[in-house]
Amino acid sequence: MFDLDGTLIHGSSAAVEISRQLGLDEEIHALELAFAAGGMTPPDFASRACALWSELTEEHVDAAFAGAPWLTGIGEVWEAIRERGDHCAVISLSPDFFVGRLLLAAPPSPGGRSGRGADATHGSRWPAVPFREPLDPDGILSAAAKVRIADELCAKFGVSRSDCVAYGDSMSDAELFGAVPLSVAVNADRHLEGLASLDYRGSDLREAYGLVGTGR
Ligand SMILES: [Mg+2]
Repeated sequence: MFDLDGTLIHGSSAAVEISRQLGLDEEIHALELAFAAGGMTPPDFASRACALWSELTEEHVDAAFAGAPWLTGIGEVWEAIRERGDHCAVISLSPDFFVGRLLLAAPPSPGGRSGRGADATHGSRWPAVPFREPLDPDGILSAAAKVRIADELCAKFGVSRSDCVAYGDSMSDAELFGAVPLSVAVNADRHLEGLASLDYRGSDLREAYGLVGTGR
């Protein structure tokens, strides 16, 4: 189970990459700082971002997806996971219109093929792009929802929590890291210090996956 922002996307997030396409780098930076300082819930953040992205089109989302600083080797790792008979999923608080693209194909890898997408993706439920409907705060996921979604995915794929490996980078992954036996902190911040089984810093998912080993 892979987190998106800061994990598969190295040092950035879907929100930042989308905002960049709209020339709203400073605005999203200010919003992320306010969120990080506390006092703003994920639905608050989403409704402010939604207002900021009023001009967003599918073309912007395509460009944000294609241009994001993805870790290299994501498609290859997902293939390796499938070859073991296992499944790979992306669980993110970011908008489903971005996260869902990972179901269709793995992100572009420099010089490599992108490969098949994940077996499942979960993001926050946003209105379709371009936005004609209001954002429903109830559709915005919280960190606690990650564990609930992980349990739903376990049921769907016929496995248990004890079969799972979680990859994440920040506070929103802490609860999930506590719920599974094996966790990989990927370029993680201080909130995951001491919480992960393994720690990886770098830009290649194949290396992080290699730490987990094949002996399970
Ligand atoms: Mg993250």
